[in-house]
Amino acid sequence: MLEHKTALVTGSTSGIGLGIAKALARQGANLLLNGFGDVDAARAEVAAVARPGAKIAHHGADMSRPAEIESMLALARAEFGGVDVLVNNAGIQHVAPVEDFPPEKWDAIIAINLSSAFHTTRLALPHMKARNWGRVINVASTHGLVASAQKSAYVASKHGIVGFTKAVALETATSGVTVNAICPGWVLTPLVRKQIDDRAARDGIAAEQAQRDLLGEKQPSLQFTTPEQLGELAVFLCSAAADNIRGAAFNVDGGWTAQ
Ligand code: NAD
Repeated sequence: MLEHKTALVTGSTSGIGLGIAKALARQGANLLLNGFGDVDAARAEVAAVARPGAKIAHHGADMSRPAEIESMLALARAEFGGVDVLVNNAGIQHVAPVEDFPPEKWDAIIAINLSSAFHTTRLALPHMKARNWGRVINVASTHGLVASAQKSAYVASKHGIVGFTKAVALETATSGVTVNAICPGWVLTPLVRKQIDDRAARDGIAAEQAQRDLLGEKQPSLQFTTPEQLGELAVFLCSAAADNIRGAAFNVDGGWTAQ
């Protein structure tokens, strides 16, 4: 379905971004990966499911730095002819009460989780509009719809990106470019693993118990959403069936926001 299309997935060396990158690669897309950590392992996972001959590259832009984002989008234009599917996924978390929240953590969360999507979107849209086809998929969160204590920066960034999604969806509403958000509940990735480990240490309990407590508190299904499920939702949003889905925020949260 996505042969001759190029997808840029930010933060695709791990977790949800890697799951989405693999799902798009399975559909035949060329992939521009981004993120830190074990780049070679991520690239190999994507290559293993990609269309033979598909182009796969990585750019290590730090998503908190607009100049590096500009250089990544310049590479996308030079090497791939532009980005057709933009998945704004890179994100970080920090958990602390607002009065103890380190200002530099606030700034980093807003920059990486929210402002980076502004920069990638403004730079990718001209190509999409010229082709009259494009997809912007913002990985927000349940925390784009409801809040939890001690996550002020994250909740602000995710509510912000849901709002940004709606605004850009309206600006592109008469074009072949759609802009939507995905709002996962708990997904067992390194970002959540850290919260489970912190919880186990705080409560003096085993990691398995901390994991059960974490799910039981918020996610009625008592199951994690998987990166594969989110990848398949991204694939659906790229399909013709989704041509008129605009400015939506899909909760994939085991019932979290139904409560
Ligand atoms: P993760 O920690 O597994 O992956 C984060 C990715 O972002 C990695 O590839 C990392 O290298 C990259 N990254 C981090 N900082 C970066 C930076 N400055 N520049 C470039 N890349 C950077 O986390 P995840 O759980 O897969 O999270 C992915 C997205 O999904 C985030 O936006 C997160 O807020 C969101 N999300 C996660 C959950 C969950 O339960 N895991 C739930 C809802 C939303």
